[in-house]
Amino acid sequence: MTRILKTDALVLHSLRWSESSKIIHLFTAEKGSLKAIARGVLRPKSSLRGVLENLNQVQVVLSVKESRGLQIISQADLLNPFTHIRENLDATAMAFSIMELLRSLIHENEASQEIFRYTSGLLQQLNRPDISHPLLFLLSFIVHFSEYLGFGWQVEECRKCRKLPESFPVKADIVNGSITCARCATSDSHPQQALSKLQWRLLFRLQQEPPSGLPALMSKIPTDLNMNPLLDLLLAHLNYHTDQSLQLKSLKMYLP
Ligand SMILES: [Zn+2]
Repeated sequence: MTRILKTDALVLHSLRWSESSKIIHLFTAEKGSLKAIARGVLRPKSSLRGVLENLNQVQVVLSVKESRGLQIISQADLLNPFTHIRENLDATAMAFSIMELLRSLIHENEASQEIFRYTSGLLQQLNRPDISHPLLFLLSFIVHFSEYLGFGWQVEECRKCRKLPESFPVKADIVNGSITCARCATSDSHPQQALSKLQWRLLFRLQQEPPSGLPALMSKIPTDLNMNPLLDLLLAHLNYHTDQSLQLKSLKMYLP
């Protein structure tokens, strides 16, 4: 049975399919990951021209048949092209990294409203002309995405003494997503990574902040805080639990 689905979506990827058509990989609010064909989109006079570019947030009307691998886009309207993100190479690298993660880890027919709303809100905050720490947005996304996928971080207390850590560096465990304070730390069989007080505090804050809180957090990032080890840690945790080895090609293109 064919039915009509109208949903907000992010364009994750597109591929030329024929002279005039493209296959579009969408992250939809209603049905998770979905691939659909946009017929005639490459014709000069197509009303869809420019609407289904990567990263655009759109509203699409689809003809959906569950038994079919490829759905059909009958209408699409542009909601947000995220122009400021595109004007900033580092912000673009972060946004495209987020899309790579969604492409790899969001399934078809998944009730995904919550993570869609989160992602859309995050991209809206990243789409500002005054972004000073774009990596913060990718870190925030991975923290919340891990939570959504069912293996969130537990960093508010030491796994052993159950207290707020007071001695640093703490050890972060990439298998169970927990931390152990410097006083309780012992050699463990799981891979661990040391986190300074500033790194630990940022990870803690990222768990609590909705996208709208990120600009304020960004303005308070200490200059001596190195966020790159946090990215390695969060990706290692994500890779371990999803049994993937996500490389984030977009990051390699843009980061110094
Ligand atoms: Zn402890």
